Amino acid sequence: MEILTVDIFQKMIKRASEEICNSESYLTEIDNVIGDGDHGIGMKRGFGAVLELLSGTSFANICDVGYFTGLELVKSMGGASGVIFGTMFIGGIDYLPRDNTANAIQIYEYFMQGERAIEKRGKSMPGQKTMLDALEPACTAMGKYLVNEKDIVKMFYKASVAAKQGAKDSGNLQSQKGRSKNFMEIAIGIPDPGAVSTSIIFKAFYDELCENVV
Ligand code: ADP
Ligand code: MG
Repeated sequence: MEILTVDIFQKMIKRASEEICNSESYLTEIDNVIGDGDHGIGMKRGFGAVLELLSGTSFANICDVGYFTGLELVKSMGGASGVIFGTMFIGGIDYLPRDNTANAIQIYEYFMQGERAIEKRGKSMPGQKTMLDALEPACTAMGKYLVNEKDIVKMFYKASVAAKQGAKDSGNLQSQKGRSKNFMEIAIGIPDPGAVSTSIIFKAFYDELCENVV
């Protein structure tokens, strides 16, 4: 698949929203150990609202899907992660075409610029035990894949594998950002909740793409 349609992009985000909602208790369990135990609840509130929005509206262009997803997250989730995950979908919006299709490079740029926008907004960077420890490797893996290839499904396979590994590796990092920095010692061995959420999102993107390959 070399072209992503607005319809499939919308389905990918719907699938990710469902998976986040289904993971509420696990996400909350991790945040209970190294945070304030609300990550799953906030994510479910935000992505539940996105699911409702995307189920009732069909968008004309790819750009609007990303923008309204991010906006809904910021509006409904609140807290640090509302802005962080909202920025994941809005930060790179200028890189998505105002069109009903996008190619692999445009999708990669979109997520990569979203990652950079989170770094700026959150005054954070990879290595500090945050969701960036899954998002940054996912984007880097996409970029690497695109040096010689351009298949969107395979690109998301690479991204989902890298995000999963990044979330797992975040368990070994010392926390420096957000609430988990108050749990420095206990946090070792526990993955960052936001990084786990990010890996769930990328896996759902890939799974949905697989079902839409003709
Ligand atoms: P809160 O910290 O307000 O309780 P959540 O529990 O929903 O919000 O989300 C916590 C997650 O947000 C963390 O696991 C981390 O991945 C992410 N996060 C928090 N602060 C930052 C930051 N400055 N930069 C990037 N990600 C962050
Ligand atoms: Mg929390």
